[in-house]
Amino acid sequence: MDILEPTSLEEALAALGDDSKLIAGGTALVLMLKNRLISPERLVSLGRIGGLDGIRWEAGTGLHIGALATIRQAETSPVVREHFPELARTFGQVANVRVRNAATVGGNLSEADYASDPPCVLTGLRARVVLQSQHGSREIPLTEFFRDFYETALASDEVLTEVIVPESSAGARQAYIKYVTRSSEDRPCIGTFAWADVGEDGVCRELRVTLGAVAEKPQEFGEAEASATGERLSDDLIRHIASHYAEHIDPLSDMRGSAWYRKQMAEVFVRRAIQLALETGSRGSGLGSGD
Ligand SMILES: Cc1cc2nc3c(=O)[nH]c(=O)nc-3n(C[C@H](O)[C@H](O)[C@H](O)COP(=O)(O)OP(=O)(O)OC[C@H]3O[C@@H](n4cnc5c(N)ncnc54)[C@H](O)[C@@H]3O)c2cc1C
Repeated sequence: MDILEPTSLEEALAALGDDSKLIAGGTALVLMLKNRLISPERLVSLGRIGGLDGIRWEAGTGLHIGALATIRQAETSPVVREHFPELARTFGQVANVRVRNAATVGGNLSEADYASDPPCVLTGLRARVVLQSQHGSREIPLTEFFRDFYETALASDEVLTEVIVPESSAGARQAYIKYVTRSSEDRPCIGTFAWADVGEDGVCRELRVTLGAVAEKPQEFGEAEASATGERLSDDLIRHIASHYAEHIDPLSDMRGSAWYRKQMAEVFVRRAIQLALETGSRGSGLGSGD
């Protein structure tokens, strides 16, 4: 197998094709190689390309995270912590610090493992990703990026270069609960992100609840979320939304929990995540201050 280490994005893009595979931090890819799940003829490393790991705030567009920023960099970034504290905390719950020091944000999203944490929160925050090929770049919302188990909208000649989290979502109350059933460093059995925009009068303007690790990609149920608009989020309404989620998900069974168990837990954690967001949930600043 050839290993290429281009020093520019252009060079990397030129080397991509059906027989090649990108490698960033390698934390997922090396396991895939070892287990013979993939056997590309050529590995194209992104490790020597400069300028793809920046994290900055831009007034008007929001938070920009370069795909090669490590999960640890995103977790500890003052910019992420200021504007999206719950997102910073979520990055801090991925695996352990050794993995976070090597794993990249772009690699986490491109791997598209159903049992990951950042995809759930970033989907709820309506983040978009920038995909670059030799023919140009395109932006795609995460709600359309994840297609199936380990499948994304990435074409074989594209590199994910940036994640953009829009400014408008910074001011709402947010809470992510990662529920693990095995070691504390493990991937989630269920991840639940609640995002609630509630006015001074206590009336909900918009609610989003995103469930991760229960199916092939992050799950949302617009009908249940819409039932909160214009209403006060009473205990009864929150219970109603939680039971809607539990009823409508089609969960998988794996070593972290059976489908039956995930349904029970979905009801519990949707309720808790909404309550947590309302009671103690973090708000981003919503205001740009540059980086
Ligand atoms: C022990 C362990 C525990 C873990 N626990 C968790 C957890 O609790 N929560 C969680 O969310 N995740 C967890 N993970 C997964 C981890 O977050 C991912 O392995 C990691 O983020 C992948 O990033 P990477 O840079 O290492 O990607 P790589 O391994 O280099 O690549 C992963 C995939 O993405 C592709 N790729 C990488 N970068 C790009 C790019 N810029 N553009 C296009 N394609 C690209 C590669 O071709 C490959 O298919 C765990 C992993 C390990 C090993």
